[in-house]
Amino acid sequence: MANTPRAALNDLKRIVIKVGTSTLMYPTGGINLQRIEKLAFVLTDLRNQGKEVILVSSGAIGVGCHCLKLNERPTSIPQQQAVAAVGQSELMTLYSKFFSEYTQVVGQVLLTRDVLDYPESRENVTNTFQQLLAMGIIPIVNENDTVAIDELDHQTKFGDNDSLSALVAEITQADLLIMLSDIDGFYDKNPTIHDDARLFSTIHAITDELLLLAGGNGSRFGTGGMITKLKAADHVLNQQSQMVLANGVDPMIIFKIMTGEKVGTHFYRK
Ligand code: ADP
Repeated sequence: MANTPRAALNDLKRIVIKVGTSTLMYPTGGINLQRIEKLAFVLTDLRNQGKEVILVSSGAIGVGCHCLKLNERPTSIPQQQAVAAVGQSELMTLYSKFFSEYTQVVGQVLLTRDVLDYPESRENVTNTFQQLLAMGIIPIVNENDTVAIDELDHQTKFGDNDSLSALVAEITQADLLIMLSDIDGFYDKNPTIHDDARLFSTIHAITDELLLLAGGNGSRFGTGGMITKLKAADHVLNQQSQMVLANGVDPMIIFKIMTGEKVGTHFYRK
């Protein structure tokens, strides 16, 4: 809602991009190949500009449902894990195919929350990212659904890739997190329900009042919704980094974000 122009983000070097399931899948449950192809084009171009790029991608369960011809997400955890195992390898096959069209090499990184709690594992994860980036590879990160479970005494699960992307931004000390969703940014109320919802262009702090404006999630296969995106933004702001939440309907929007065009919601400390 603020009217000041955006600063260009072109000088930022290390960028994490998170795509939600709604960006990768059609509402019918089919895989959006056009979008995955465009994403591969844009991210490779950023690499060619000399940036370091990390992709955090949801979609394993959505793609798995598509491969197994399931009309809806299964409810039991083992079923979801099985579907994710099928979907994750298919998703990586698609990414490898599209990125290789632009001669960009990608590497798969699967994480669980607890690796970040143990200094040794955390160091291993950090070293892997550093090495991949030093070799010009784009890491494609997802949660390791086979081992990730959420128990009271031993939390291994991120729960959603919004928080995973914020943690990846922290571990890699990224300059910017770009979160692509099915909505233009963060509004003062859920715009899929309220016609008069107004977009926040910039946000400098995540307050309790803002959290109250984030309603439930809207997409069929997505899980996080706005609360997890605001929490991710809070995490990023606490790391003295910045985040842009924008619509992933056209991945070219990433170029607009980098040149400071006023799209999406820009979270940064004043
Ligand atoms: P993704 O799959 O991209 O992570 P989600 O479906 O989990 O996306 O979350 C995005 C959805 O959150 C939007 O489509 C919208 O329906 C809902 N939403 C709820 N409150 C808000 C808000 N205040 N501003 C924007 N979107 C909101």
